[in-house]
Amino acid sequence: MSCPSPTHFAVISPNPNLKPHEVSQIAKTPFMSFPSSHTSHLPLQSPRNACFFLCNHMNKQEVTQNGNGLKFVRGKKLLRDLCTWGIGGPCNYFLQVFNQTQLVSAIRYCLEHSIQFIIIGKGSNCLFDDLGFGGCVILNRIEFLERIESGIYRVGSGFQFNRLGVQCSNEGFTGLEFAGGIPGTVGGATFMNAGANGQETADAIDSIEIVTTEGRLQTLKRSDLDFGYRSSPFQNMEDLAAIVAVTFQLNHCESARRRQQEYLERRRKSQPVGERSAGSVFRNPSNLGVSAAELIEKAGLKSFRVGGAMVSDIHANFFINSGGSTSQDMLELINLVKEKVNQKFGVQLKEEVLYVDPHCSSVNPNNDK
Ligand SMILES: Cc1cc2nc3c(=O)[nH]c(=O)nc-3n(C[C@H](O)[C@H](O)[C@H](O)COP(=O)(O)OP(=O)(O)OC[C@H]3O[C@@H](n4cnc5c(N)ncnc54)[C@H](O)[C@@H]3O)c2cc1C
Repeated sequence: MSCPSPTHFAVISPNPNLKPHEVSQIAKTPFMSFPSSHTSHLPLQSPRNACFFLCNHMNKQEVTQNGNGLKFVRGKKLLRDLCTWGIGGPCNYFLQVFNQTQLVSAIRYCLEHSIQFIIIGKGSNCLFDDLGFGGCVILNRIEFLERIESGIYRVGSGFQFNRLGVQCSNEGFTGLEFAGGIPGTVGGATFMNAGANGQETADAIDSIEIVTTEGRLQTLKRSDLDFGYRSSPFQNMEDLAAIVAVTFQLNHCESARRRQQEYLERRRKSQPVGERSAGSVFRNPSNLGVSAAELIEKAGLKSFRVGGAMVSDIHANFFINSGGSTSQDMLELINLVKEKVNQKFGVQLKEEVLYVDPHCSSVNPNNDK
């Protein structure tokens, strides 16, 4: 059986020859870049067979506990329950972390046992595969918020980004008005440099605390980092394990609250709120003066569907799981839309959503107990 190529989004290559420290460099948070080819197709194992393989591998134990009492759920957690698209099979290991100590402990455990891992927030920018994920999914629940001084907020990376946007605006500070309505976490928004309405996350940041793959804590100044449109240095940072906390520096502004409410209202009118989506699937092409949504709409693709995956009839850059979409439906829809837009306008759209490659089983199966 052949299906749309996940290598478009490829993240983590399971290389059995890697040593733990090398694994750590690929086992961290995935960022998937999309090659320019949009037509290549890669055969995948049939989902049933592959799922059988993964589940067999997983169900040795239901829970694995590390030395610090952290409980890793084995083979049971469905990724579809961890993302806004509602797509994805089981992951081999799953755990939630509520503070930095737990996060570091989880990362160390994964490294010691050569288990590849990803850290996720709300999964609102991720496409998981029906086959699941062969490594460990760490769900970030580090949710504190500290008011350091007027307009300066130090926030846990698992804190809800939309809540932060509403809260800061209500308190009379500008910079994060756009965040109301973005259903991610502060960590995910920083990693993606999320933005809207002419604002972006990086513009409001003062510093970022990270954990490296050696388990060291580092504080990075915003001024030393290069961010771009939906891009951050973390997407290519070799020794990043996770973003732990972000400090935002915001300016006082009387109209912030009103502006935040206007942005949210605009969003409600122009986006398929309440549907299962991952926000914009494609980045807007640079320097063309036309958005990805306009190109898709002009190509006549609103409401176009593959199985349960559908181009929204409200916002053409939002693809929705209209019920029972598989990851392959969504991948195929993404590829078809790219192809048709390219044929019609000669524009090569680039994905903003990230695909998580399922084939990253433990590097050393003997350690996988
Ligand atoms: C309805 C809807 C509207 C949206 N609107 C917008 C919008 O206006 N603008 C916009 O930019 N995006 C938008 N998005 C996309 C998405 O919400 C953002 O990209 C968001 O910032 C992702 O956050 P998350 O916590 O869900 O990240 P996830 O999807 O969980 O993860 C995304 C990536 O970040 C990495 N990551 C997450 N947390 C951490 C961490 N603590 N440390 C290191 N890496 C981490 C993950 O490994 C992954 O690679 C929208 C999505 C939806 C569903």
